[in-house]
Amino acid sequence: MHRNETILAVDDKKENLDVLLDILEDFDVIPVTCGQKALEIIEQETISLILLDIVMPNIDGYEVCKILKSQPATKNIPIIFTTAKTDEDSISKAFQSGANDYVSKPLKRSEVIARVQTQIKLKKTIDDLEYLASRDTMTGVYNRRKFFELSTPIFDLYEENLFVSMLDIDHFKKVNDSFGHDAGDLVIKLVAKTISEMLPENSIFARIGGEEFVAVCIDDSTDRMTQLFENIRTAIASSSVDYNGHDISFTISNGVAQKNLSIQSIDELIKQADLALYDAKNSGRNKIVFR
Ligand code: GH3
Ligand code: MG
Ligand code: MG
Repeated sequence: MHRNETILAVDDKKENLDVLLDILEDFDVIPVTCGQKALEIIEQETISLILLDIVMPNIDGYEVCKILKSQPATKNIPIIFTTAKTDEDSISKAFQSGANDYVSKPLKRSEVIARVQTQIKLKKTIDDLEYLASRDTMTGVYNRRKFFELSTPIFDLYEENLFVSMLDIDHFKKVNDSFGHDAGDLVIKLVAKTISEMLPENSIFARIGGEEFVAVCIDDSTDRMTQLFENIRTAIASSSVDYNGHDISFTISNGVAQKNLSIQSIDELIKQADLALYDAKNSGRNKIVFR
């Protein structure tokens, strides 16, 4: 059974949809009779795969496919064309519009199932790999690569409502030296969890070094940002890790830089936040410096 996989079947002929529903009886299938309806459903539901007829009135299959493959939210949904047209031109046009595969009509049960399963499996593998490639293994938060991928395009969207925060655990070497590397790991994990739970949904948060984190926040209020980082600082200062009967406490320093017109890139803004962090470290730690 594949009940957690929802397949969208698109065909303007009801008898074709009935054949698909019968073949894919082990899957959840949403049948729709036109391209427009297909585009609407995809916005509302989580769709694992699309079986798409080519010849349909109004928007044809090629067009639907092109639209979906051009949008970040839908470009990774596999699309298999179901087509009576198997001439070289039609097939070539299908792949050019972004199709992952095709099956020819009349549909053959075992072929449809095999091709559907292959695409679903491939999609899962790609999703798993993308997740792994974007995360820091130890904490589960974004890694450095993903951080730059996400924050670079955001930089240009804001003139000044953009903040970069560099957060670094204070005297962390002492934790390792006193209690061992495993205890240090627990501290890093708890710090990552605390910060990621306290940051607003629209923030980008990553571990970019051993005991160093970065956050990008969007807000039109510097006061609210100050309060947020102050809350994070105190939450971490009052938390602790229990390790082999030892109660390990720790603090962080935080350097925050706000975007302004003289800052040209995310790298420059990070550099400013880094300088602020350096000031926070040199003026006693367990504190936040804004610049
Ligand atoms: P400061 O307050 O100036 O930041 O001092 P610090 O001791 O925190 O900073 P320093 O950069 O001197 O040391 C960071 C240490 O973090 C050194 C390194 O061994 C340790 N570290 C880096 N990655 C990990 C990790 O994944 N796990 C553990 N347990 N330790 C790590
Ligand atoms: Mg440190
Ligand atoms: Mg450090």
